[in-house]
Amino acid sequence: MNVADGRNGFLHFRRLLPPATFKAMKALVKETAASGFALKDVPVPAIRGDEVLIKVHRAGVCGTDVHIHEWDAWAQGRCRPPFTVGHEFAGEVAEVGTLVTDVKVGDRVTAEGHIVCGRCHLCRTGNGHVCPNTRIIGVDRDGCFAEYIAMPATNVWHLDDDIAFEIGGIHDPMGNAFHTALHGTELPGKTVLITGCGPIGIFAVGICHAAGASRVIASDVNPTRLALAKAMGAHDAVQPQDAAAAVHAATDGLGVDVVLEMSGVPAAIHQAFKLVRVGGRVQMLGIPSKPIDVDLATEIIFKGITVYGVVGRRMYETWIQMTQFLRSGQFDPKPVITHRFPLEDHAEAIRVIKAGEAGKVVFEIA
Ligand code: NAD
Ligand code: ZN
Repeated sequence: MNVADGRNGFLHFRRLLPPATFKAMKALVKETAASGFALKDVPVPAIRGDEVLIKVHRAGVCGTDVHIHEWDAWAQGRCRPPFTVGHEFAGEVAEVGTLVTDVKVGDRVTAEGHIVCGRCHLCRTGNGHVCPNTRIIGVDRDGCFAEYIAMPATNVWHLDDDIAFEIGGIHDPMGNAFHTALHGTELPGKTVLITGCGPIGIFAVGICHAAGASRVIASDVNPTRLALAKAMGAHDAVQPQDAAAAVHAATDGLGVDVVLEMSGVPAAIHQAFKLVRVGGRVQMLGIPSKPIDVDLATEIIFKGITVYGVVGRRMYETWIQMTQFLRSGQFDPKPVITHRFPLEDHAEAIRVIKAGEAGKVVFEIA
């Protein structure tokens, strides 16, 4: 295929490089406004002066990629095909822009996939994670399920030499778990309920354990995921209908100090408000697929609880915490990765996630 040919639909790539310098790469692409992905040859992205080109070694597959694959209502409202999918990755720097001073060719890196403006009120007050001008790789611009990705140098995060690329490749969802578990929770000695043991919930189990929570209770409907939660250090890994009994037993009927809501399922959200103690804290990461009714008076106000909405990762407090926990050796995320595939097997990668058979799924790209 002539990748320089605009008829292949990649007009947006085409404008990046003069045709004579095109180099092709493999990429998993959302080609059209319909379900599915296609593995294509596309041009290697050109970089601007403030960007770096990263050779992708490992990339994590996320529920968001499944939404884009299925082309559900959220994806239809947000995404504009064609674009390369994927937002969780790690790799090696292959080229740096003329303005980049602190990233070099050969550096082992991952990156924050939310590209923020750096200039708005939120960015300038240390709240870049809720920047209204955020653009996400693999959602709003080309992503990382490809041999190369272009990233602003400011988003690049260096990996320690002993951190494997596959661990670097899951820093994004691990960061969601760190943000949810650690922001404002003061975990040492606390009792914690985690509702939902998807990959992020399972990471959170290990993080709460390492952060010194006195009891970590995890709930899910899926036995495979409960087993992973147990392997990551949950004291109790229970079906949702057994969560109340586990919480009562662990807290003398008081309720847990902190709930991490990591399912987005309405029943679990109500359970979070019910099983948190009076004056406790509910950290809300899970995203319900549609609006839900909450009785503010009884579920929140008269309980005097604090509810925190989690968006992505705090920039860059969460990234510093992640690096320090990994260095401590007390948190090992590796057991969360259950499946590894080449890009060619993308259909199977999506299938195991949809079937609930997987913890974290990773593409091995180079
Ligand atoms: P996921 O969606 O696979 O995990 C959800 C888990 O909840 C599943 O294992 C499911 O079996 C379980 N579940 C279903 N019903 C339950 C119930 N009644 N009680 C307890 N658990 C139940 O995977 P994930 O990638 O770990 O994501 C978790 C949630 O976080 C999703 O809703 C996702 O959309 C959301 N998310 C939010 C952000 C953010 O920035 N706020 C970022 C990433 C993901
Ligand atoms: Zn901003």
